[in-house]
Amino acid sequence: MEIFTGSFTQQEPIPEAGIEAALRVLRHGRLHRYNTAGEEIAETALLEEEFAAFTGAKYCLAVASGGYALGAALRAIGIGPGDVVLTNAFTLAPVPGAIAAVGATPVFVETTEGLTIDLGDLAAKTKGAKALLLSHMRGHICDMDRLMAICNAAQLPVIEDCAHTMGASWRGTPSGRHGVFGCYSTQTYKHMNSGEGGLLVSDDPDLMAKAILLSGSYMLYPRHRAAPPPEAFEAVKYVTPNVSGRMDNLRAAILRPQLTDLPRQLSRWNALYRAVEAGLQSTPGLQLIDRPEGEDYVASSFQFLLPDWPADRVRSLLARAAARGVELKWFGAAEPQGFTSRHSSWRYAPAQDMPRTDRVLAGLIDMRLPLTFSIDDAAVIARILRQEVSAVFQGDDSAPASVPLAD
Ligand SMILES: *Cc1c(COP(=O)(O)O)cnc(C)c1O
Repeated sequence: MEIFTGSFTQQEPIPEAGIEAALRVLRHGRLHRYNTAGEEIAETALLEEEFAAFTGAKYCLAVASGGYALGAALRAIGIGPGDVVLTNAFTLAPVPGAIAAVGATPVFVETTEGLTIDLGDLAAKTKGAKALLLSHMRGHICDMDRLMAICNAAQLPVIEDCAHTMGASWRGTPSGRHGVFGCYSTQTYKHMNSGEGGLLVSDDPDLMAKAILLSGSYMLYPRHRAAPPPEAFEAVKYVTPNVSGRMDNLRAAILRPQLTDLPRQLSRWNALYRAVEAGLQSTPGLQLIDRPEGEDYVASSFQFLLPDWPADRVRSLLARAAARGVELKWFGAAEPQGFTSRHSSWRYAPAQDMPRTDRVLAGLIDMRLPLTFSIDDAAVIARILRQEVSAVFQGDDSAPASVPLAD
């Protein structure tokens, strides 16, 4: 019996060029982004310029985390206590958390079987809402043309959470470039790795001036490069609170070579995804996720549905896959576990009835695909899953073949 021995949480090392750049920063000691010598341009300012060019945005701000980027975007557009912000019912905790952190109320929108936001439910909920914080959860992009038509008609600003879509696009427009702000994360499990970190892009000079002041620029904003002109800051510099969350030069130094390398990495991720997908085609009891034609995805993780499986069967599958070294996450579990939680676990938000989302989540299985896996690894994983899903679906409820591996 085949057993997989790779680690689902092991990313690749930082590229040598990033290590060397980090050592240069450590050796000169000017880690703070505004600590520059003479004509020196800070690594952070260079990263912003390069990421703006990568996404085609006018402005970019590097911050301490993806969650911080979401909060800064919400604050910059004026969201505050008592406001209603719509967001996906299927996402990760930092998204409703960012809404709650500014005192606003998250109102959840249902989820389709394509794992995207339900546009019918969105249209029905725009009244009274102040913004949509749209999460491209696990890299699945909805019909952005329809979504923007709905939000523009309702005059609802859109902030995009692109934690899983850095480098992806919808009909040629990069993810993060439809809304007023695009927010990205450079936390270890995302598409670039600086441990923690975030990036924010926008074309709006007034909103970006606010975001930069919010991030803790003091009056040093002229040292930014991918930033609006000084006039944009004049109107807001006295009234925008400092909510420090800057990125430092060490992280930026690690990220710049990764950005250069990103297009190659993205195609490697998609090759792994396609290998798993091919290996799981027409597995009894398993439903693959449709990828719409307009979506140019970056699949750094893999999802599939076990439609209407009883919870015991899903648990049995998780145990059997784990016994063969395949680590799966289940969004249907009643209790939050590890990174995975669901809308009913976010009790700082009012409880909301989400029947369509609940049905999808009850059968939703999620798996990381780190770039330390080879195409052969992807094929092994698919073979194991195919065998175990088929066995459990056909009624084999026996215990796993060996003791589940610890994480
Ligand atoms: C990781 C993540 C974030 C936030 O990123 P951090 O950098 O960890 O704060 C936001 N949204 C989603 C969907 C994420 O997975």
